[in-house]
Amino acid sequence: MPLAYEVQHLTRFYPKQTAPANDDISLTVDNGEIFGLLGDNGAGKTTLVKQMAYLLKPTQGSITLFGQPLRTDNSASKIGYMPQTGMALNNLTVGEAFYFTAHLRGFSRSDARAERDYLLALLDLGSLRDQPIPRLSGGQKRMVALASTLAASPPVIILDEPTNDLDPQNRQRVWDILRNVNADRGTTVILVTHNVLEAEKVVQRVGIMQHGKLVSVGRPGILKGDLNRQLRLEVVFSPEAPPAFPPDVQPIVLAAGRWLLLIDRDQAPAYLTILNRTPSIEDFRLSTATLEDLYMAMVD
Ligand code: ATP
Repeated sequence: MPLAYEVQHLTRFYPKQTAPANDDISLTVDNGEIFGLLGDNGAGKTTLVKQMAYLLKPTQGSITLFGQPLRTDNSASKIGYMPQTGMALNNLTVGEAFYFTAHLRGFSRSDARAERDYLLALLDLGSLRDQPIPRLSGGQKRMVALASTLAASPPVIILDEPTNDLDPQNRQRVWDILRNVNADRGTTVILVTHNVLEAEKVVQRVGIMQHGKLVSVGRPGILKGDLNRQLRLEVVFSPEAPPAFPPDVQPIVLAAGRWLLLIDRDQAPAYLTILNRTPSIEDFRLSTATLEDLYMAMVD
């Protein structure tokens, strides 16, 4: 089976922009992989996934899906896309939205009815089956949008911030569902997220975007390998009297009077000595580094 995606030298300018929203991005996604995209607001993640969903044309570069150039026919039948906000099918009830999406994607009427019932159960939306979508809460709309994306099992699903607006229980449900459709149906999952710590448990590889470029791609564990020798030191202090750390250390400023530092393990005793001598320190925590720390250190 060929790769799910091969993206080559993709560049996208929006009209009247001088800097590209995507700048010479090359990337492959394996068939059956869960791939996550991280990056600051405006880094170019949505622009990239919209091109991968054939909703936006590249200015330069190419994208193939299962070895074929992206076209209207293969994108419509093979990709389920969940946008960051809003959704089509807005005047339908929840049950109708699932039924029509499955039917439009090629399921017979009876198979589409069975798919509707399967999705209502999978996302625990049975009680909302006859509710018009405009009357749902923001979080309920996200769950309906996710279910519509899954309807009729497209081999690729692309999700732009799927857990936005969701309570912790539904966020966990979304991650479980994505893991399950990937394991059971072999669905390739590409997702944009800001929930780095949650995504870390689900994604198999992650790409980090910054200013339109893909600056790092790899398995979370390997990307974190660079950090394994490091510890995260979070320090809380009176903002008017910051601690005097060595000048070559660049703290990540989390808030006024709250810094995060990534330090080598063997430097820990020296830092603890500085903290003990600084009266303005209100609290500190020393722990092992996470993918979120790597991300923050890279995009800072
Ligand atoms: P976020 O995390 O905030 O959703 P993102 O990483 O998805 O951000 P994009 O939405 O891809 O970023 O935007 C990348 C850049 O392109 C930004 O500078 C944005 O202002 C610009 N941009 C996005 N859409 C358009 C548009 N339709 N017209 C002009 N510029 C746009």
